[in-house]
Amino acid sequence: MDASILNYTVNDNVAKFLKQTHKLYINGKWVDSKSGKTFDVEDPATGKKISTCAAGDKNDIDLAVSAARKCFDSGKWHSVPPNEKGKIIWKIAELIDDHTEELAQLESLDNGKPVAIAAGADVALSSDIFRYMAGWATKIEGETIPISVPYTPGAQYHSYTLREPVGVVGQIIPWNFPLLMAAWKLSVALAAGCTIVLKPAEQTPLSALRLTEIINNSNLLPEGVLNVVTGFGEDAGAPLAAHPHVDKVAFTGSTEVGKLITKASAGNLKKVSLELGGKSPTIIFPDADIDAAIAGAASAIFFNHGQCCCAGSRLMAHEKVFDQVAEGISKIASNIKVGPGMDTSSEMGPLVSDEQFKKVSGYIESGKSEGGEIIAGGKYDNSSGGHFVHPTVFAKTDKDMSIVKEEIFGPVLCAQPFSDQDLDKIAEVANNTTYGLAASVWSQNISTAHKLAAKIRAGTVWVNCHNIFDASLPFGGYKESGWGREMGHEVLKNYTELKAVTVNL
Ligand code: NAP
Ligand code: MG
Repeated sequence: MDASILNYTVNDNVAKFLKQTHKLYINGKWVDSKSGKTFDVEDPATGKKISTCAAGDKNDIDLAVSAARKCFDSGKWHSVPPNEKGKIIWKIAELIDDHTEELAQLESLDNGKPVAIAAGADVALSSDIFRYMAGWATKIEGETIPISVPYTPGAQYHSYTLREPVGVVGQIIPWNFPLLMAAWKLSVALAAGCTIVLKPAEQTPLSALRLTEIINNSNLLPEGVLNVVTGFGEDAGAPLAAHPHVDKVAFTGSTEVGKLITKASAGNLKKVSLELGGKSPTIIFPDADIDAAIAGAASAIFFNHGQCCCAGSRLMAHEKVFDQVAEGISKIASNIKVGPGMDTSSEMGPLVSDEQFKKVSGYIESGKSEGGEIIAGGKYDNSSGGHFVHPTVFAKTDKDMSIVKEEIFGPVLCAQPFSDQDLDKIAEVANNTTYGLAASVWSQNISTAHKLAAKIRAGTVWVNCHNIFDASLPFGGYKESGWGREMGHEVLKNYTELKAVTVNL
């Protein structure tokens, strides 16, 4: 790769990989898109092209689904003994770890996140979920059930359940954690015995393609188990969600597209799981360890440049500590070094795309015009070609402002004081959103923390922490934040069907 384009020294495999024109992966082979069309992949820190990918559409989705269907129906994958499946999934985890440096660099170049975070969080959590799911491959079990059947007195039956793979799954993933979202989705599908068509986000296809290359080079999976079609949402994602031979679709992304997915899935009533947006509150009580709460609330919104579905984007701090908290977070915000993710001194990278830059900077302007007071940041700059937005804190926000109601998906915090002692009233403000993904409660009083955790209508509540993820913890949303859960053993329910078998003895 031309050094003037890349600006950074990269791993040899990364340089080689970026030079390729990436193809689609269908039935164990790399193939061009039927239309021959491609799209450019850019580095969000410079706005410059760094690689090229095949632009798949309905015809390519048809081929990929047909490969996955044929493979599923042949039983080639789900008949592999569970322990062998587990070993293969574990091997994928090891391969991810072995390729940490290059996967982290690709993630940083493609998404913009700091390379150390990509290595320490994205890559590490990706291998971890494969390892966790490797264990589940041998533990997907049915039950025996004693039955009575009052209308056949005297008869004896033996009844049991079989938990079987749901079939062909379409997986559509976003750009904020490209490798990790691929890992969350692929690992469980493989453990459950499903076959897969994966559609990465058009902004960030590289790490999923490199992972696929790594898996393919190791000959780990029968052909047709894993298929990857890069392309645009409307061209490749929509036909996958609508495809009559897909049994289940798993989607992570915006609530708006999540609703389109549910409509598209109605044709064959395929199973749907959705992990969507959020507007999560961070609630700080006066009895909290305030220094820890300040650091935690800052990280809750600024981690991954605020491009997290569970970002703590609404700060609720008790009026007794509001000024101290707002000042503390603002100080942290002002000290965060914003720059290219591949520059190891950067603590926050660019936003992923010009579209997101315009969206987030538009919210900063609308917040100002609605009367919000900026006490940190508020600056955004794309003059270098990169999409840089500085960590921003709005004080004096109100529940009716669009910055408080809508998901910004950028490093923008909306702060509001509260004066109530009554936990029901505090919960009412916390729950005053169409979303229900996450929340964090900061208090040293265990009674306050547990009582409020129960009152919050969200899939995750953190107490005295935020953004704590583990492969074994279910993650997903109430209300318009989604359907079903990712991770933990709970996610296996999304990828399996339950069959009741009854034998007349
Ligand atoms: P998005 O449009 O929801 O994209 C997510 C995935 O869905 C991408 O792979 C996308 O493909 C695909 N897609 C788009 N339209 C589709 C359709 N009609 N049918 C099937 N698949 C489709 O998200 P975005 O446009 O990248 O970001 C917009 C907003 O979504 C953000 O500002 C943020 O609020 C939210 N978001 C949430 C999450 C999350 O983790 N919950 C992640 C990302 C974004 P393309 O990449 O080609 O569009
Ligand atoms: Mg989109």
